Amino acid sequence: MKQIYLDYAATTPAHPEVVNTMLPYFSEMYGNPSAIYALGQEARAAVEEARGKVAGLIGARDEEVVFTSGGTEADNFALIGVALANREQGDHIITSAIEHHAVLETARFLKTRGFKVTYLPVDSNGLVDPDDVKKAITRQTILVSIMHANNEIGTIQPIAEIGKITREAGICFHTDAVQTAGHIPVNVNQLGVELVAMSAHKLYGPKGVGALYIRRGTKLAPFMHGGEQERRRRAGTENVPGIVGLGKAAEIARQEMAEEATRLTRLRDRLARGILETAPDASLNGHPTQRLPGNVNVSFSFIEGESMCLNLDLEGIYVSTGSACSLASNEPSHVLVAIGTHREQAFGSLRFTLGKWTTDEDVSRVLEVLPKVVAKLRAMSPLIKSQK
Ligand SMILES: *Cc1c(COP(=O)(O)O)cnc(C)c1O
Repeated sequence: MKQIYLDYAATTPAHPEVVNTMLPYFSEMYGNPSAIYALGQEARAAVEEARGKVAGLIGARDEEVVFTSGGTEADNFALIGVALANREQGDHIITSAIEHHAVLETARFLKTRGFKVTYLPVDSNGLVDPDDVKKAITRQTILVSIMHANNEIGTIQPIAEIGKITREAGICFHTDAVQTAGHIPVNVNQLGVELVAMSAHKLYGPKGVGALYIRRGTKLAPFMHGGEQERRRRAGTENVPGIVGLGKAAEIARQEMAEEATRLTRLRDRLARGILETAPDASLNGHPTQRLPGNVNVSFSFIEGESMCLNLDLEGIYVSTGSACSLASNEPSHVLVAIGTHREQAFGSLRFTLGKWTTDEDVSRVLEVLPKVVAKLRAMSPLIKSQK
């Protein structure tokens, strides 16, 4: 049975070219980039070349890119770094209700340390209203953190509009671009941001490496201590193979992004339309058009996402129930709650995320299997009986 992977928002397989580019850095060019002899300098050169490629992807200067252990660290660094460096200036942070946990939990942590956090609501499509950002700003505000696109429902936020507001107010603006970097254009100047988080394994690079863009002049306290790497902004021996992999992934993404986004948008719309036509009571979550090229998030009434997920698994189809991270909890997704999805509908949601190796055939197979799974589960559903 062919395996159909439709969970690219959770992680992507590394591109074969990325893996090939990384390999020599494990055991041939294994030097420490801080070492002054040739072996070390070779590794240093590779790290700097990768930095250039990441900077190129987002329209940044090379020295504004700091490598991290992934998207989570980049988000933590942005929030905690700004909070610690600007405590004298103010204690207020503005974010949204639908951020990734890497931002939400970090904001919550800062709250326990005396910072004040405003969580902006979103509309039924998952959009933050830039006007709400403007209204929430006080003289104490030191940071606005709004994600570029949501990992669950795919909604793309009006970051450039918010960027105009934060710039006018002179407030630092962070965006979590883990879901967008390498997939749709991310340009730090067009967006008007000071900080941008990204992660390699969401753009066909390896897991455990990412980057934080830090605009020149941004006041940010270091978060890791114990070394002078990354211009003293992030201590620790560089993950050279990982960084090289991220650089290669960024280079490939830059070349292929436009064409790939067009291809995925077509597949996405075909899948969404097909599901809504065949499954009674299904509804699309997130913005109908202002969404990630590869994201389809659908709620089905009267059945559980988890049961659907497991039944699709038996057919070799891998999808996610809302968010991979919510597997262990019995709470509905905070994102679906924020867009006003009813509780039962939130539990009956599935996220299909398409990517580089998704084909038309894959979409056809899902459209063939899914209605059967839905019908089978509906027939067994105690929820549907209690409604009738
Ligand atoms: C995956 C993800 C993260 C976390 O990135 P890691 O590299 O897995 O730590 C943060 N934000 C968003 C929006 C994500 O999708």
